[in-house]
Amino acid sequence: ATPTAIMVGSGVGLNRGILFKSAAVLEGIAHLQAIGFDKTGTLTKGTPEVTDIIPFANYTKQELLSIAAAGEHPSIHPLAQAVVTAAKQEQLNIEEVSDYHEEAGYGVSCLLSGQQLFIGNLKLMNKYQVDVGDAQSDFQRLADLGRTTSFIALGGSVIGLIALADVVKESTKEALARLHRLGLKTFMITGDNNKVAQVVGEQVGIGEVISEILPQDKINIIKRYQDQGFKVAMVGDGINDAPALAQSDVGIAIGSGTDVAKETGDVVLVRNDLLDVERAIRLGRKTLSKIK
Ligand code: ADP
Ligand code: MG
Repeated sequence: ATPTAIMVGSGVGLNRGILFKSAAVLEGIAHLQAIGFDKTGTLTKGTPEVTDIIPFANYTKQELLSIAAAGEHPSIHPLAQAVVTAAKQEQLNIEEVSDYHEEAGYGVSCLLSGQQLFIGNLKLMNKYQVDVGDAQSDFQRLADLGRTTSFIALGGSVIGLIALADVVKESTKEALARLHRLGLKTFMITGDNNKVAQVVGEQVGIGEVISEILPQDKINIIKRYQDQGFKVAMVGDGINDAPALAQSDVGIAIGSGTDVAKETGDVVLVRNDLLDVERAIRLGRKTLSKIK
């Protein structure tokens, strides 16, 4: 009856929009003890909006937004797209930049009319030795509100801050509560600022918050749990998440996510509903109990 139970289990999953890539996954998911979640696009909707534009020196808000949009225009990062959208809404001119580099986990760098432009987090400013000076206190105030805030530095000095906020998905809090009831540990892995991650973590009631992690280091967090003897799943949606999904015992991709995540994942949640994580685990456990 073993193969039959698994076939039935996969079939039930499929009806509910839970796609198991193999029969072994149904068993694997039944044994999970900890689940890691990407923040942006997984716990949150992943469509941030600009909330604050704070220019320094003699810049106007519109000038600052226009400069930021020029630098972010080539990027497909959700934070970048939000800045470009805000500039377009104000019908601002978005100039073309040269020498553009995406700095994964930091931000972007480029040249705007021959001047060096950096847009990104504190780590980016530190990397290029840009003095953040007075901007630090505004940055902290915005972080305390849970807003991801970018420094905009032109010609070696900070000309302003742009803050963005992303809302959590409706079902996130309940989904995590249900996983805790099943006895699982939950944790967030994000490249975002410590304080911002803490605020979001408290909103959703996640077990542990692990923040300011570079994309290539997310895999190490999964390994750390595995070294402690946990069977670990990772839930993610982005290109950055693929290595962590591959490293985890069960990689769970969100259906709205990138193709890379969906290809890498062992389970795909077609409906984009985090409540399906718990449903998938219960289905795996039920299937396993029928096998035994
Ligand atoms: P996540 O873990 O949420 O997927 P990322 O690893 O993509 O985050 O990015 C981590 C941090 O790097 C962001 O919170 C932001 O501070 C900074 N960052 C990355 N890309 C950009 C960008 N295009 N513009 C501004 N900031 C960026
Ligand atoms: Mg992400």
